Amino acid sequence: MEYEGQICRAPMERSAFMLPIMVGCSYNRCRFCNLFRHLKYRELPFEKIEKELVRVKNAGGNPRRIFLGDGNAFAQESGRLIDILKMIKRYFPGCEEINMDATVTSILKRSDAELEEFYKLGVRHLYLGIESGLDDVLAFMEKDHDQGQAYEAIGRLHQANLIYDAHIMTGVAGKGRGMENACALAEFLNQTRPAHVVNFSMFLHKEVPLYQNILDGSFIPASEKENLEEERRLIELMTAALLYDGFHDFIEFRVRGRLPKDKEKMLARLEHVIKEMPETETYSYVQGECPDLERCGGGSVWQNN
Ligand code: SF4
Repeated sequence: MEYEGQICRAPMERSAFMLPIMVGCSYNRCRFCNLFRHLKYRELPFEKIEKELVRVKNAGGNPRRIFLGDGNAFAQESGRLIDILKMIKRYFPGCEEINMDATVTSILKRSDAELEEFYKLGVRHLYLGIESGLDDVLAFMEKDHDQGQAYEAIGRLHQANLIYDAHIMTGVAGKGRGMENACALAEFLNQTRPAHVVNFSMFLHKEVPLYQNILDGSFIPASEKENLEEERRLIELMTAALLYDGFHDFIEFRVRGRLPKDKEKMLARLEHVIKEMPETETYSYVQGECPDLERCGGGSVWQNN
């Protein structure tokens, strides 16, 4: 199948068979996200999805793990999602788990019976964009949930035996608020117990609404050093048992390990990289391309001259 979009999935899913069932993200409003802004959201027809299953089967594929794409695949209407899960089972009865990204509201709109049905049909991991532990940050970034809703949705996932994994983003609270966010997020994660936490750490694009906030001063980005300090504080405060994976693409740093067993080792790595950071502040800035948004002028908002 010809893929439309930008592949972005948790590293735990790297060996899964990626099966797109839609193009883009049905939500597509998070202020920092540029993954699917240039795409018109649409569901892929069953025939196209089935054709892809046939192609993989005929090529000798027998995936144990399937990842449904794209952004927020769990938001599909329940009947359609159930039909897709059943179709997957027909072609690949040996498939052990079907995983996907979800938003909090895409969970809250399901009944308990539906969540149990998804589990019976093979759904296991749902990756939630938790991002921050602070309600005002979630609202500013136009996430589709607040903390109360996230607690409720995750409680219901646990009840249905579905596994919850958290995507988070150091730097999302902006300059000077990393410690506050780390404390709030640690409390949230310790209470909600995700199986995995993936920190994609904030990276800044010109092609997203957040860039306008940077230009008008309503969002001041944190430097990469602050992001690392936030991550260090978060890991210090974590008591839940989980696999943690943190990326900082811009400075090519990754801290990964099983908590609490690897905590000291991970903190030592962070300590080392923080000490080695140059005095000049660096900001995670990724130049992207997005034809459908107004191009913001170049400039040096990321640089501390
Ligand atoms: S739900 Fe995920 S993919 Fe969709 S806009 Fe938000 S961050 Fe991007």
